[in-house]
Amino acid sequence: MSISYNNITVRIHLDRIRANYELLSRKASAPIGVIKSDAYGHGLVPVAKTLAAAGACTLAVGTVGEALKLRKGGFDGRIIALLGALSSEEACSCRIGHIVPFVFSLQHLRMLSDAGSADAPLPVALKFDTGMARLGFCEEDIPGLLQALPGLPGIRVAIVASHFAVSDEPEKEDFTREQHETFLRITGALRSAGLTFEATIANSAAMLAYPETHHELQRPGIAIYGANPLHGTPNEHMGSGLSPAMDVGTPILQVHALPKGRSISYGRTFVAPRDMRVAITSVGYADAFSRGLSNRGVMMVNGQRAPIVGRVCMQMTAVDVTDIPHVSSGDTAWILGGPGECPVTPEELAAAWGTITYEAFCLLGLNPKTFE
Ligand SMILES: *Cc1c(COP(=O)(O)O)cnc(C)c1O
Repeated sequence: MSISYNNITVRIHLDRIRANYELLSRKASAPIGVIKSDAYGHGLVPVAKTLAAAGACTLAVGTVGEALKLRKGGFDGRIIALLGALSSEEACSCRIGHIVPFVFSLQHLRMLSDAGSADAPLPVALKFDTGMARLGFCEEDIPGLLQALPGLPGIRVAIVASHFAVSDEPEKEDFTREQHETFLRITGALRSAGLTFEATIANSAAMLAYPETHHELQRPGIAIYGANPLHGTPNEHMGSGLSPAMDVGTPILQVHALPKGRSISYGRTFVAPRDMRVAITSVGYADAFSRGLSNRGVMMVNGQRAPIVGRVCMQMTAVDVTDIPHVSSGDTAWILGGPGECPVTPEELAAAWGTITYEAFCLLGLNPKTFE
């Protein structure tokens, strides 16, 4: 799906995605590229091809449907479906498409075992909850699981996984360490029972900040796209060198004067405190550019910051270009990234938006994309 009615250009720099993945590969043995939700808005298949060329053997998506799309797109490595197989049809798709589903319930394990066979058991990833309290088996479920497994010949436990809640917040390190201790007990108990598998718990932030959590596989997502999950924390330097891969630009439709005392846009929420010049850009909330950025966000015009003035409209937003020389209709206003020395960073946009880089990428990535 892609928004089809606008003038936005979302430019994805695949070379930067490759460089980010290579940087992560130097920090740990086996980073799985997490490319769920259309690669965080960056484009499922182009990103997958880039990561495969950079050496990724395993990629992780959300749904089995996405995994099938990726398989059809030509990726022939291992695909993990983080949201699991939710029906016997999806379980069959896992078998046919060589897709490894995350599994978080005995019911789903039985369904997958029925789709597989003792000769060719389906590899699955057991998902454990160690503190996120979202999906997963608990440590207390292990005896029951170990009892059930001999009766499930159609599956093979290939991966044991968990997920961190606060690995991007150094001041909550105690909780991350507790989660990891729990994970170590879980993997230890399963290995003592004779299972052999790859363990994985590290997301981007843990990959950068907690090397002891790397295990056999790591699961970076956001860092691949160049946002630093440790931005604004004392550990920010651990994510240095990552390069944001998404640029979003929109044409300026008109530039005009806004005399002192005149208001602009709906609601008259901005009144010019001096004689000003404003540029009307061709982006709005229908392009997933949040109305919450009204009077808060900035764009980059001719290499300088142009603050948003007044309310963001459906397909237009005004910016203050009073102090920026030579702005005219047809120039590009950058809402993310942009050329030159001071691109709008994902962290800067997310902060003005009142959200995180992940959401800004996923939403802006709904617009038509070009790849370079
Ligand atoms: C999205 C996701 C990741 C990647 O997390 P980042 O913070 O983007 O690195 C890893 N594991 C699971 C289960 C996920 O859902």
